[in-house]
Amino acid sequence: MSRYFSPRFAALEPYTPGEQPQSLERYVKLNTNECPFPPSEKARAYAEAHTRPLNLYPDPDCRALRVKLAETLEIAPEELMLCNGSDEALAFAFLAFCDGKTAAAFPEITYGFYPVFAALCSVEYQEVPLRADFSVAPEDYFGLGRTIFIANPNAPTGKLLSVAEIETILQRNPDNVVVIDEAYIDFGGTSCIPLIRSYENLLVTQTFSKSRALAGGRLGFAVGCPALIADLNAIRCSFNPYNVNSLTTAAAMGTLLDSDYTRRCCETVMENRTYTAAELKRRGFHVLESAANFLFAAAPDYDGGALYRALKEKGVLVRHFDKPAIAQYNRISIGTREQMDALLRALDEILQEAGQG
Ligand code: PMP
Repeated sequence: MSRYFSPRFAALEPYTPGEQPQSLERYVKLNTNECPFPPSEKARAYAEAHTRPLNLYPDPDCRALRVKLAETLEIAPEELMLCNGSDEALAFAFLAFCDGKTAAAFPEITYGFYPVFAALCSVEYQEVPLRADFSVAPEDYFGLGRTIFIANPNAPTGKLLSVAEIETILQRNPDNVVVIDEAYIDFGGTSCIPLIRSYENLLVTQTFSKSRALAGGRLGFAVGCPALIADLNAIRCSFNPYNVNSLTTAAAMGTLLDSDYTRRCCETVMENRTYTAAELKRRGFHVLESAANFLFAAAPDYDGGALYRALKEKGVLVRHFDKPAIAQYNRISIGTREQMDALLRALDEILQEAGQG
């Protein structure tokens, strides 16, 4: 830290992203929940052919893409804001809807960026415990008087709340914004986007990074009533009005024009999830029911951190979190069938070497 760094950030503990290895050949990469399949051919073709010239700034309103995405989501363009990954939308929501008077609340076990955003924005936060089975208890969020952030499905557990359960949280917090982070909603969940017409306090975020195979493009979006979206745009345009670049805009347009491809990728990921969960359970793992493109699983008699390291030694990257309540678990992104078989082979070797196979 330099002597110029503002003391207000002295205690900031930045988010640690999952490893992004330089050499992709070296690892079976199951650690950051990307889509294992390439972007749609149309995404590539659009990025190559239809970009706004790169000597010009991108359209700060992303008008054409916003209209197309709004049409896809069956909402109005004014109910939608595009941003540089859904992380950016979440950061803007912390800035826009939390302050010294209105603190934040989110599950104790959830996406690790929430406490970091809160700290960056100097916002106090409450971490709400999960039930013993790692599910979110909606009633714990009733009338908190805070801005609520819930990932649905939650990460890293993969557990899903129903739209009806989310509706109870919205109803019991009419004076506070409830942010539902739907980064993983396309792998078996039902989006609560249609509820924005009934609840002015609902903000939904989604991303092109997971189901839409465009993590490298960095594109996310927020959906809510026009007034909430105007608030977010006020923050966006005070920070970086050109937050979505021209290449990504074009690739995203191509992606939206190939919705069949996106659907097929999600279906394959869900099939591979069912297969992998069954294979892990057959080996004695405890596997949480997941509605996301990852599994959260604990080996019967093998320390979670040690298993993460042993897998890495064998060239398979998964994600381990140090928090005591989940230290026994690893989060395994769902890849291709070949990648999942490579994981299972590595696990068999590790368990055999430990005398458990
Ligand atoms: N929400 C959750 C729950 C996530 O796991 C992630 C991915 N790390 C994000 C949001 C952010 O994704 P992106 O910025 O790529 O849209």
